Amino acid sequence: MQATETPLLWRDRDAIAERLRSAPSIVLAVDFDGTLAPIVAKPDEASMPRTVREPLVQLSGKEGLTVAIVSGRALDDLRERVGIEGIGYAGNHGLELALGNDRTVPAQASEWRDVIDATVSALRTRLADVEGCSIESKGLTATVHVRRVADEERRTVQEVLYETVPAIDDRLEISAGKAIWELRPPIDWDKGSAITAILDRANDGAFAIYLGDDVTDEDAFAALNEADMESLSVVVGNRPATAADYRLTAQDAVPDFLRFLAQQR
Ligand SMILES: [Mg+2]
Repeated sequence: MQATETPLLWRDRDAIAERLRSAPSIVLAVDFDGTLAPIVAKPDEASMPRTVREPLVQLSGKEGLTVAIVSGRALDDLRERVGIEGIGYAGNHGLELALGNDRTVPAQASEWRDVIDATVSALRTRLADVEGCSIESKGLTATVHVRRVADEERRTVQEVLYETVPAIDDRLEISAGKAIWELRPPIDWDKGSAITAILDRANDGAFAIYLGDDVTDEDAFAALNEADMESLSVVVGNRPATAADYRLTAQDAVPDFLRFLAQQR
């Protein structure tokens, strides 16, 4: 689907309000970076503005409404950054789940920690001279950040990545995001699986909502489309090809949506 074909959410405001009001219960799942928190040059400085936190806290306390944050960040990092009790968290694109009282990591994922450790230290050594490049270990996965790397140097990073990673373990998967490269074990798990795990716990007749801004969120949009329930998927920003139903033009439109949702319940 092309950008122009994805309607703006506010175009159908009244119809959406009515669907939200009449749903028996709601599951709201949201991405973090670029959706709840504005994208910043240094990822460890990302935080949720008060305009997002307030309606999110309000939503988390509502009867019949479940909130979950789904992110590429490590679970502990995500939880600390959001800091809201009583909501669900899916870290590492869902490889680490904390829903309700249990915290789970698929067994086949934890075996990869040593491989990720070795890869991260090799990359840190080999990319030490690239100004602005940082390598974040997330335990089960890793992220190479190039937002602050000069355009002409980004190619070097890519070359080093494709040389170094397969030499350590050629089963590790490398994928590109917004000014990042992600390394992950070859486990069939993505934000779509995370959403499915979250929705499996939902009540019959629940209405599912997902908001996200990046390529990894497309798996979540697709999972919503496939789920046998009413749903609303929203892409944030100008991703050209998306499976989402609606679009919010930018991250700063997200607080309005959260307040709008809170008003309907
Ligand atoms: Mg994002």
